Amino acid sequence: MGSIIVTGVPGVGKTTVLSKAADQLGLDTTVYGTQMLRVAREAGHVEDRDEMRKLDPETQRDVQRQAAEAISTMGRVFVDTHCLIQTPTGFLPGLPAWVLEGLEPETIVLIEADPEAIASRRAEDESRKRDADAPDVIRQHQNMNRATATSVATLTGATILVIENQQGKLDEAVANLVEALE
Ligand code: ATP
Ligand code: MG
Repeated sequence: MGSIIVTGVPGVGKTTVLSKAADQLGLDTTVYGTQMLRVAREAGHVEDRDEMRKLDPETQRDVQRQAAEAISTMGRVFVDTHCLIQTPTGFLPGLPAWVLEGLEPETIVLIEADPEAIASRRAEDESRKRDADAPDVIRQHQNMNRATATSVATLTGATILVIENQQGKLDEAVANLVEALE
C-alpha cells in the first residue's frame, strides 16, 4: 500500500487537518519536514526547521533522498509535506522523482484556502517563523502547487484530491478528506 501525500502552502492548515483526519481513519502521519530535519540535524546542517528552506539545493536533495528512504519503511501513512519550497533561487521541488519512488503515493491531497486567510494564519501563528508573503504571492504558490500535483500524478498514477480548508471551517475540511479516503 502506498502513502497519501498531503501538500499545500505553509500555513494553509495541513498539520491541523491531518491531526484530526488521521485519528478518524486510523492512519499514522509522518511529517516529511521532521524526517528531513532529523537527517539534516544529524549531519550538522541546521538547528531548527525554518532554516531548512535556506539550505543550498544540493544539500536539500541529499536530505530529501534520505528522508524518503526512512518513510518508505512505514507502509500506508499520511506524509505531511510541501511539493514546492520557496528558496532564494526559486521554487525547489519537494517531491522530485527520486523521492516519489520511495513514497509510492496512491493519492496526492492538495489543501487549499483563500490567500488572504492564509496570510492571516501565518501572521497569527506565533509558534512558527513563516514567510510573510503577500496574498498574490501565496496565490501564485498555490497555482504552482496544482501544476506540481498534476506532475506527481502523471509520474506515479496517484489521484489528486483538492480539499478546501476555509476560514473557521476546519471540521468541514476534515470530513471531506475522511470521506474521500475511507
Ligand atoms: P506548515 O506547512 O508551515 O507546517 P501547515 O499547513 O501545517 O503549515 P498549520 O500549522 O496546520 O499549517 O496551520 C497554520 C495555522 O492556521 C494554525 O494556527 C492553525 O490553527 C490555523 N488554521 C488551520 N486551519 C484553519 C481553519 N480552517 N480556519 C482558521 N484557522 C486555521
Ligand atoms: Mg505543518
